[in-house]
Amino acid sequence: MSSLIDQLRRIAGAANVLHEGDLDAYETDWRKRARGKALAVVRPGSTGEVAAVVKACAAAGVSIVPQGGNTGLVVGSTPDSSGTQVVLNLARMNAVRAVDADNLTMTVEAGCVLQMVQDAAQVAGFLFPLSLAAEGSCTIGGNLATNAGGTQVVRYGNARELCLGLEVVTAAGEVWDGLSGLRKDNTGYDLRDLFIGSEGTLGIITAATLRLHPLPAATLTAWAALPSLEDAQALLGLAHRQLGASLTGFEVMGQFALSLVVRHFSQLRVPLYEDSPYCVLLETSDSESEEHARTRLERLLEQALEDGCVTDAVLAGNLSQARQLWHVRESIPLAQAEEGLNIKHDISIPVSRIPEFCLETDALLRREIPGVRLVNFGHLGDGNLHYNVQAPEGGDNQAFLRDWEDRVNTLVYDSVQAFGGSISAEHGVGSLKLDKLPHYKSPVALDMMRAIKKALDPANTLNPGRVVRPFA
Ligand code: FAD
Ligand code: ZN
Repeated sequence: MSSLIDQLRRIAGAANVLHEGDLDAYETDWRKRARGKALAVVRPGSTGEVAAVVKACAAAGVSIVPQGGNTGLVVGSTPDSSGTQVVLNLARMNAVRAVDADNLTMTVEAGCVLQMVQDAAQVAGFLFPLSLAAEGSCTIGGNLATNAGGTQVVRYGNARELCLGLEVVTAAGEVWDGLSGLRKDNTGYDLRDLFIGSEGTLGIITAATLRLHPLPAATLTAWAALPSLEDAQALLGLAHRQLGASLTGFEVMGQFALSLVVRHFSQLRVPLYEDSPYCVLLETSDSESEEHARTRLERLLEQALEDGCVTDAVLAGNLSQARQLWHVRESIPLAQAEEGLNIKHDISIPVSRIPEFCLETDALLRREIPGVRLVNFGHLGDGNLHYNVQAPEGGDNQAFLRDWEDRVNTLVYDSVQAFGGSISAEHGVGSLKLDKLPHYKSPVALDMMRAIKKALDPANTLNPGRVVRPFA
């Protein structure tokens, strides 16, 4: 293997091939659930270098794990424990290649951190709306490879909807330049959409042409207290009807999830949660003016109070108050981590069936595990819940995970399937859900996925053991 290491050093420069010493940051996943061992970590600086690295590894029969910010939540961007895989980290490829204001597009390299992409768009006078709590660390390549969602999907769509073209290095080390920036192109199969959401198993994304949006004139945030999930659903319907395309965020938070924020981050003020089973964070963006936005949002909340789906509401008076409300929402996963290890789900269900799903699944879990605590929150506007399951109060979290994780996953995923949902709305499959997928995906769909994997990566060198087993 030392000849491969020498080759990689010649390609990317010795300083960019990490072989010995502390590689923990590259080998451990964000939730610290998996610790692997890499043969080497390579940090190429250009598409040409990525292609050369892929060719060298392919010739040596060495598999590659593509890595961006390593913030993924399904153990997809870290090596296995064999010490034989090369981690290909794209962080050095972080240039903004071009902004085309008339085409409303921006072309960036895959290693650009999401926040940097948002900032570059803003400097150019545009909005790049993809937004998630990991935006200070995750990369646009990782966002596209996982088809990330986040808090603005209800208006702007997933990462997929925000991408018009890709540059990809194939498993054979060829470069596909698909950075056209075209909104319409019907010349056959959509290769771009194959690579988006493929979690590094079909090719390495080296650059992307992104769709930009006009900057809104005003953005306003409200926080509402609701008696039930049915009421949250009713408020969502009302918001769609009254705000139309101005509705940019709709997050629901269960009372227990918010109580964890209060317990672990006492400096944060959580409004209205004490007497309400659910709270909703609602955001509207307006192209006209702040006054216009405020009038519409006030009218919506008045109607909701009159209808009885909302019992109380507050409207952020300025940007700082709005940030504080979002901060509460974004602190839920961190508060949950403080409370202890838990079983996470990122599921989607048709919005119309979510209240019924929660009613049934909550009851099922409570029957099976007396005292179990359900941390339910998420992007209700997209039918996407982070339906997490925590040990009973005072219980041993480690033991809970060991004894219950598999059973709880089966109960929740079976229920998701019965309600016509998906076992991953955002985070992907990675290695964590690799063995679950065959139970919940149709055999026809799995066969097509295997055929695609075998066609694009016949030697199975790109992120093997993730998403789908080609020869199962
Ligand atoms: P990594 O973690 O490095 O990689 C993720 C996957 O993509 C791996 O399979 C990897 O092999 C592959 N990959 C990475 N780069 C490339 C590339 N250039 N070419 C090919 N394959 C590649 N996700 C959401 O969807 N919505 C959220 O709201 C959300 N919130 C989060 C909040 C926190 C605090 C954290 C830690 C994570 C959150 N995530 C969320 C998870 C989300 O998937 C990642 O944050 C992000 O999209 C991954 O980007 P990354 O650069 O860190 O990729
Ligand atoms: Zn999410």
